[in-house]
Amino acid sequence: MATPVTVIRGDGIGPEVIDAAMRVLESSGADLAWEPAEAGAAANIKMGDALPDETLRSIRRSRICLKGPLEMPIASGYQSATARLTAELDLYANLRPVRSYSGVETPFRDVDLAIVRENSEGEYAGVERYVDHDGEVAERVSTTTLAASQRIVRYAFDYAARNRRRKVTLVHKANILKLTSGIFLQAGRDMAKHYSGIEFEEMIVDNAALQLVMNPPRFRVIVTSNLFGDILSELAAGLVGGLGLAAGMNIGEDAAVFEPIHGTAADIAGKGIANPTAAIVAGAMLLRHTGEAEAADRIDSAVRLVIAERKHVTPDLGGHASTEEFADRVASVLRTVRSESTSRL
Ligand code: ATP
Repeated sequence: MATPVTVIRGDGIGPEVIDAAMRVLESSGADLAWEPAEAGAAANIKMGDALPDETLRSIRRSRICLKGPLEMPIASGYQSATARLTAELDLYANLRPVRSYSGVETPFRDVDLAIVRENSEGEYAGVERYVDHDGEVAERVSTTTLAASQRIVRYAFDYAARNRRRKVTLVHKANILKLTSGIFLQAGRDMAKHYSGIEFEEMIVDNAALQLVMNPPRFRVIVTSNLFGDILSELAAGLVGGLGLAAGMNIGEDAAVFEPIHGTAADIAGKGIANPTAAIVAGAMLLRHTGEAEAADRIDSAVRLVIAERKHVTPDLGGHASTEEFADRVASVLRTVRSESTSRL
């Protein structure tokens, strides 16, 4: 029976890249039944809610969602639909694998790391308020719990073990944030004792930023808290060629949401030139999650081949191809390619 998947095409370039990803997933032979749903600015205008109840109900039913970028009002307006989705479904872990692509010019050729970001608490889940009458002083209380810290470091070690990655680097700021970051660090130290085959490394976040741009191949799996993970995973995406290539998965006990990590890219929306790689790779991660690992590996290999050929790449990678041309080429290579990747979620 086909696996039901909720699809949120999203705002800006979302519909363009998600349509391309759906086409590639269909060509892979994967047996999926799409359930379209709405969220983001388009849903807010149409239905008066950026995360309508029926969208949440659809994901709770299917437990799997492919999601495009959703517009987020900056410094005012309604709460981010992505943040609400993460909280409503308790998607506590965010996984972002980052690997060099041959054919994409970058300072390093051999980056192959994964960032595991705590998604449920810290700075992003805290309560924010003005503490004066004039709106000139504001504060936010951020909470870190041992339970949430333990479940995310366990996820990172398990991911490392499944993928035969021999090192987990925990990134923190416990020299300054002694209690909150301190709890997170202690959870990592304690968990490391249960994974004897995996080296455990601790690194302060400022040093981690430096090391990531000076020597990224030294990292295999990074586990970190919400805000640090948000920043470092975008930095890591830049190391291998930019936002058009990087995908992520948000996972909880009851649901998993797969997405390109880029935003709505208003500057190129509607032009048909967005790079759909990130959305396609997010789709491949989704297939791995549903147990169609062979199709997922073939998609990854086809994407890598098409990028390495350089003939059908989009303008962000120096080419002239449209979103559709790139996706069509991936779909056609997909029929003949043999999978080489063996990554597991
Ligand atoms: P948002 O406010 O939704 O986060 P943004 O424009 O601030 O959007 P991004 O959408 O992530 O941030 O885009 C940052 C830059 O990267 C833009 O110049 C955009 O055109 C480019 N970009 C992002 N995604 C892609 C993509 N898939 N293909 C090509 N360029 C992209």
